[in-house]
Amino acid sequence: MHNFDFVKPGTVADAAAALQGDEAQPLGGGQTLIPTMKQRLAAPETLVSLIGIAEMQGVCKTDAGELSIGGATTHATVEAEAASLFPGLAGLAGRIGDPAVRNRGTIGGSLANNDPAACYPAAALATGATIRTDKREIAADDYFQGMFTTALDEGEIIVEVRMPIPEKSNYQKFLQPASRFALTGVFVAKYADGVRVAVTGASEEGVFRWTEAEQALGSNFAADAISGLSVSADGMINDLHGTPEYRAHLVKVLTGRAVMAAA
Ligand SMILES: Cc1cc2nc3c(=O)[nH]c(=O)nc-3n(C[C@H](O)[C@H](O)[C@H](O)COP(=O)(O)OP(=O)(O)OC[C@H]3O[C@@H](n4cnc5c(N)ncnc54)[C@H](O)[C@@H]3O)c2cc1C
Repeated sequence: MHNFDFVKPGTVADAAAALQGDEAQPLGGGQTLIPTMKQRLAAPETLVSLIGIAEMQGVCKTDAGELSIGGATTHATVEAEAASLFPGLAGLAGRIGDPAVRNRGTIGGSLANNDPAACYPAAALATGATIRTDKREIAADDYFQGMFTTALDEGEIIVEVRMPIPEKSNYQKFLQPASRFALTGVFVAKYADGVRVAVTGASEEGVFRWTEAEQALGSNFAADAISGLSVSADGMINDLHGTPEYRAHLVKVLTGRAVMAAA
């Protein structure tokens, strides 16, 4: 690992100022960034830790009926604090990685990294979340731009994630047992005005919405509603863990399971 400076500001403004420097990078829980630095695949000169910023911590319900999650909130805290407010999200957080990962990894780090097999991108896209940074607000539909690619600018900080709380929701993950990431994962969120279905782990383009299922489930929120649909294997990930056809099959199976569990 290269030498680096470490700063731990107490406010978003101070963190943003520290990130103005050349080669400075935000640090959340370090579950991805630190191993990347150990492998010398990243060499920031300054790490700006975000975990000491009080306004980026914790979970609460807003007056608008959204779940507000501070960008430096760990998965374990989301699991605990969202349990009664948004059980579908708490269930997702509680199945990320292992206890060590859940007690260090943060939602901001997960969404900034946008690993194609990560779980939170599915929840953010399925809820039509708003990602608030130190500079602006970004709708989830505009935020995810492909594998490991997002709308974030260099050094931009995810301060808060707001998710409209669904009437019903569930996340189904077919986990890759070695990494515990999603081989494929599906988040289903039912609202009064429609259903959103987001898929992670499957596509070479990263997280995506399965709009045909959304339409079918919008008029009939039951697993049977998608029985006549099929998912194309075109553009699905092909690796030693699963073929494109296998992943396409999983998308439909997991969507049905998520609907049954939510309903
Ligand atoms: C063994 C293992 C198993 C895992 N299993 C799963 C799993 O099942 N599902 C899953 O979804 N994830 C999984 N993860 C990923 C993990 O949960 C973290 O979400 C992920 O490592 C990134 O979060 P972090 O807080 O550790 O970010 P870091 O590693 O600190 O940072 C990652 C990237 O995000 C940037 N960043 C961090 N915070 C912010 C912020 N607030 N604003 C802007 N940029 C920021 C950093 O600069 C860096 O580029 C696993 C990780 C490990 C090591």
